[in-house]
Amino acid sequence: MKKKLVNNKQSKLIIGLTGGIGSGKTAASDLFAKQGVNVVDTDILARQALQLGSPLLTQVFNYFGEQLKLEDGSLDRAALRALVFNNSTAKTWLEELVHPWVKKETLKALAEATSPYILLSSPLLIESGQVSLTDRLVVVDLPESIQIQRTTQRDNNDPSLVKKIIQQQISRQDRLAQADDLIDNSGDLTSLQKQVDSLHNHYLKLALTKANQE
Ligand code: ATP
Repeated sequence: MKKKLVNNKQSKLIIGLTGGIGSGKTAASDLFAKQGVNVVDTDILARQALQLGSPLLTQVFNYFGEQLKLEDGSLDRAALRALVFNNSTAKTWLEELVHPWVKKETLKALAEATSPYILLSSPLLIESGQVSLTDRLVVVDLPESIQIQRTTQRDNNDPSLVKKIIQQQISRQDRLAQADDLIDNSGDLTSLQKQVDSLHNHYLKLALTKANQE
């Protein structure tokens, strides 16, 4: 198992879960959650960072202007994405605002979790270095053609856009090289469920071993 960060006071087993866009991270983590596992999802936290009422959202409006405000006062996320897509200064500013908040909330959620082990799900687990918070990494993997097909279908967008996003992410090979465990999500949802069930049993045993070592 990987050595933990010294500042991570969490003594529970933390399983990191990652995968490329549309690989099935949410589908897989939902199945772990159904087994009673506490899931900390950095994608959800990143969305919460800029939800209505958040002090960070006020800073976004101050920086980018009120044109990003929808009628109900919430953020026009599509407009923000478009604004930062080709503007590296704005992108960096936004990341420096959101990332520390997500990190703080991630550590808080990990500390508050009560299940025998915790799943930390993040599309950028490896790239962000958050993998060092985990004891073990499970990668959701599938061939690029299925990944593109499912993502395009889900988001109703162009395959070329999905391909571009895949190219910006860590390569499949580099991601797999870091994996301790693998979920092959090229099959149907029953196959995914079977793999999650089997890993869940494995992680429960590892959690017990770790708890006995403390
Ligand atoms: P993102 O990185 O964009 O957040 P994700 O990794 O969380 O995506 P999901 O949203 O879980 O991916 O899955 C992508 C799409 O593929 C969804 O529409 C989901 O319902 C579907 N899907 C996931 N796994 C399977 C499967 N085994 N069989 C069929 N469809 C699947």
